[in-house]
Amino acid sequence: MTRIGILGCGGRMGRALIGTVLATPGAVLAGGAERPGAPDIGGDLGLLVGQDALGLVVGDDPAALFAQCQVAIDFTAPAATARHAAAAALSDTALVIGTTGLGPSEQAAIAAAAGRVAIVQAANFSLGVSLLLALTELVAARLGSAFDIEILEMHHRHKVDAPSGTALALGRAAAAGRRVSLAQVARRSRDGLTGPRPTGEIGFATLRGGDVVGDHQVIFAGDGERLSLGHQAGDRGIFARGAVHAALWAAGRGPGLYGMTDVLDLG
Ligand code: NAD
Repeated sequence: MTRIGILGCGGRMGRALIGTVLATPGAVLAGGAERPGAPDIGGDLGLLVGQDALGLVVGDDPAALFAQCQVAIDFTAPAATARHAAAAALSDTALVIGTTGLGPSEQAAIAAAAGRVAIVQAANFSLGVSLLLALTELVAARLGSAFDIEILEMHHRHKVDAPSGTALALGRAAAAGRRVSLAQVARRSRDGLTGPRPTGEIGFATLRGGDVVGDHQVIFAGDGERLSLGHQAGDRGIFARGAVHAALWAAGRGPGLYGMTDVLDLG
């Protein structure tokens, strides 16, 4: 049995993760933590998700949670995730990271921690998006720059980062297919008199509204034809199931920074 702790257990994903860990054979819920001052602190993890009390109290000390579990799952916020990665390395606890919107220094903290413990990081833990990433790279490699690549995403009104981590991962996959760096070809937004579209650009469009869990579309637009690859998430359960699957995979694994390609053995 693998003991799993949830960082950010009071959030939208945190709550979905509690239910998924409780329903997954081989997984045991070890505890949960929230940011200091969060209203859920001191409450019971079971009651938090509308189930019977479990006798597990929401804490605010990640080190205390790491001492209780073999793997922690973190869907919180970029600065918190960077601190959690450093603390996980100190306590020899594997970490699964779903937080998006990380900057270079936060990503560097994760890479450093991955020298000490196993870390699985993915902008999207669904099986469908893991396959969509592989397909995007393949199609971008085959079609070449005669086809313009545009990435469209829509999320719920509460999302705080844009473009989504998944949209950026799709952009990196498309850039990898073309053997270029996304940073050099990305156009993350357009406004005003932009001029004609430069060849080779990878464009992004961001929509926000309602309770949309996550829609992504990669459009390859050529002369006379258009190819679209898309994914719609209907329920946060798909991310939670993928993250818990990754946690079971990471338990007892050697240090390293892994992705869903490794977990799902997609080559
Ligand atoms: P949310 O705001 O509902 O939840 C985040 C939770 O983290 C909150 O409860 C907040 O209090 C808590 N938190 C913040 N700082 C903390 C700290 N220092 N210690 C412990 N808890 C802390 O957001 P959400 O919709 O659950 O999304 C969380 C993150 O996960 C976002 O970055 C989002 O983009 C990402 N996400 C990733 C995937 C994926 O598959 N990788 C899927 C959905 C969401």
